[in-house]
Amino acid sequence: MSEIPKAYEPGEVEQKWYRFWMEQGYFTPKIDRKKTPFVIIMPPPNVTGELHLGHALTAALEDIMIRWHRMRGEPALWLPGVDHAGIATQVVVEQKLAAEGLDRHKLGREQFIERVWEWVKKSRQSITYQHQRLGASCDWTRERFTLDEGPSLAVRTAFVRLYNKGLIYRGERIVNWCPRCQTALSDLEVQHKDVTGNLYYLRYPMADGDGFVVVATTRPETYLGDTAVAVNPDDGRFKALVGKKVVLPVIGRVIPIISDSAVDPSFGTGAVKITPGHDPVDFEMSERQHLQIVKILNPDATMNEQAGPYAGLDRFVCRQKVLDDFEKAGLLEKIEQHHHSVGHCVRCQTMVEPEVSKQWFVRAAPLAEPAVRAVTDGRITIVPERFTKVYLNWMENIRDWCISRQLWWGHRIPVWYCQKCNELTVAIEEPSTCSHCGSGDIVQDPDVLDTWFSSALWPHSTLGWTEDTEDFKYFYPTSVMETGYDILFFWVARMIMMGLEDTGDIPFHTVYLHGLIRDETGEKMSKMKGNVLNPTDAIEDYGTDALRFAITTGTSPGNDINLGPHRLEAGRNFANKMWNAARFVLQSLEASPIESGALAKLTAKHLASIEDRWILSRLNHLVASVDELMSNFQFGEAERQIHDFFWGEFCDWYIEIAKIRLARSDYSPLPVLAFVLDAALRLLHPFMPFITEELWQNLKQRLPEGSLGSDSLIIATYPVANKKFVDAEADVVMDTVIEIIRSIRNARAEHKVAAGKWIEARVYADKLQPTIALQSEAIETLAKARPLAVLSRGQRQSKEEKALVLVLKEAEVVLPWAGMVDLAAERKRLEGEISTVEKEIDRLEQRLKDKAFVSKAPAVVVDKERSKLQAGKDKLLRLKQELTQLS
Ligand SMILES: [Zn+2]
Ligand SMILES: [Zn+2]
Repeated sequence: MSEIPKAYEPGEVEQKWYRFWMEQGYFTPKIDRKKTPFVIIMPPPNVTGELHLGHALTAALEDIMIRWHRMRGEPALWLPGVDHAGIATQVVVEQKLAAEGLDRHKLGREQFIERVWEWVKKSRQSITYQHQRLGASCDWTRERFTLDEGPSLAVRTAFVRLYNKGLIYRGERIVNWCPRCQTALSDLEVQHKDVTGNLYYLRYPMADGDGFVVVATTRPETYLGDTAVAVNPDDGRFKALVGKKVVLPVIGRVIPIISDSAVDPSFGTGAVKITPGHDPVDFEMSERQHLQIVKILNPDATMNEQAGPYAGLDRFVCRQKVLDDFEKAGLLEKIEQHHHSVGHCVRCQTMVEPEVSKQWFVRAAPLAEPAVRAVTDGRITIVPERFTKVYLNWMENIRDWCISRQLWWGHRIPVWYCQKCNELTVAIEEPSTCSHCGSGDIVQDPDVLDTWFSSALWPHSTLGWTEDTEDFKYFYPTSVMETGYDILFFWVARMIMMGLEDTGDIPFHTVYLHGLIRDETGEKMSKMKGNVLNPTDAIEDYGTDALRFAITTGTSPGNDINLGPHRLEAGRNFANKMWNAARFVLQSLEASPIESGALAKLTAKHLASIEDRWILSRLNHLVASVDELMSNFQFGEAERQIHDFFWGEFCDWYIEIAKIRLARSDYSPLPVLAFVLDAALRLLHPFMPFITEELWQNLKQRLPEGSLGSDSLIIATYPVANKKFVDAEADVVMDTVIEIIRSIRNARAEHKVAAGKWIEARVYADKLQPTIALQSEAIETLAKARPLAVLSRGQRQSKEEKALVLVLKEAEVVLPWAGMVDLAAERKRLEGEISTVEKEIDRLEQRLKDKAFVSKAPAVVVDKERSKLQAGKDKLLRLKQELTQLS
């Protein structure tokens, strides 16, 4: 039997048990066709490195679910993986190259990719290590990487199938273009920043020489790409101009003035310049109105040959030059300050350009339809429910999805162009000849697919699709997809679309969305603000269980969490409390071992002492409640209730009362202590896996062989509610006993009675009197009340000495003043307090009479003052009553 250290040292304990669980193979489920499995596919973190608190939350919540289901005897699969994270990874490696004075073009595609792989290997190890520190009980034997052979084959297969069905096409669309990364970006990769810029009013001379049309723009250099000026058809100011033409200054292009109802007459002058090559709204208009499209930028955001004399200039240099030229020609009407939002590349912070570009797209609407149905007909449930509306709303307004990226790192697009006949060959495996003319002169599309394309296939590609593997047959569809609400569209929606498209079945039954972790004051954590809390640091300082407790307790799905040192300290304190309580039980078991079978025999009915019946009844109540909460994904509330039971009912009350009995050594509370400790550790294991396993193993060593029925807590059965423990009588009695002790303790504290001093107390009760009387010793010891009498109300004397009377729900407590305080001193103290409270009431009343204050201060402030006044009045009343009792 190993000695139990005085204090809990998380570091060693965590490593020891994680290694043990791995060695025993507990994380790998066995396929058992008689049982329904519980399956979570882990959202693959980007391979770019350090896990942040969002990952820690994901890992904690998924581990809670997996461990709970595993303990319920279900084959529980949690499949881990990592995402190659196309652009994010490429940018990181490019930055490393830049430090060496290299760039990817100097290196060439093949060597560059080799460099990325080198880096990825190291980074993956670190991600795995961090997940293990977090206690994630995922099945490492099934770990996947998005660029593994299986998932890559799935990607090519899905692409070819969609292409053959006409659901993938190549076309010109406006995309967000990063001039530094030189690739199209998804909306998620664009960060919008509010900036104060200028709105420039430019004069475009009429082609017939008769005056100007004035247009307003924030990007004057884009006038080089204008192919029309548009006005609203209902705008009377411009009726006469529609159909006429203007000449673009400097370059001399002649463009028409058209009418289109999409024009907002209140913007600028009401006449707007139309730049279809560099603006999404203008692009749409150009398709309606069959306008010419002129692109004016090179991929690096310098001006191209369409910019005439400005060709070769950087976009911002060009802007200034254009403004100078307009001004010189008297064509710059005015400049106004203008607040607007400008897109930046999230990877490199460069200002992005909306730009027309030839890209590959997925036709989204036909895929969205079945994905909407899967949610509306209840096959997929979204938790919390309010996000269902958000999902449906987005799906109904879905746009085609640009899936090509001008990057080197990722899944290469499986399309080959024939140099001879110009046709495309789209194939899963690399072809050697053109499928149209048989020419061997074919070149693969240089682009790769958006990272989210492979992520969209993740639930089925990780389980072996395209093949009908054993894993795929048994584990698909999966049970829960747990992720942040911020990627509901980018990821979850696309998994539903692609899962249905590829497999004909939903990818998961439930979508569980967690909130964001913010700092203690509710601010978003960011490197720039310096308020980022690193999970690995938190684990070093507080222990993994404390961190998991801090980020999951009391939280609910979809709501943000404010995390700071206080919550982490609360987690650590709870771990210490648990340790000390368990240590007491374990040491008591060492001193007097219990007989075999003692735990199995326990039922509330046959127990002689009411506190035993009570703690078992409370435990049973907790078990039932936890079961219901867990089934409804209310993990944070379940954890809070287990914490409150363990700390309050078990440690503060049951163990304290049991100590009295142990000292007397008559009817031993040890079987009940061991039984409740075992159950509490089981309940808590999914949340705080390490400390619970450590204590449980210690408990197992101190009980007769086979008492706990399992080798390890991780595979022990989760407690189920049992009616034989329900005991309403014990609940009422013990609630009253606790209320009596608490009220005496409060009175002692309020009247500053020294901690070691015994005070006299009398308790009067009605029908509970005989059972409360049996608890006299507990009340005496825990309230330090002696002599103590528990009497029936009928025995109350009409004339009693001066005493403090506490009226409770089921009893009345009488504390004679004489034995408790120095009467004269207490009177003086009360009088002093009364005068302080009176002054405070007076101040508050004056303040609330002040009309200026009441009308000008915010309502919350006024309400606060009002409730302070009410509280003061209540206190005054009570103090005065006490003073009368004393006089
Ligand atoms: Zn960029
Ligand atoms: Zn060909």
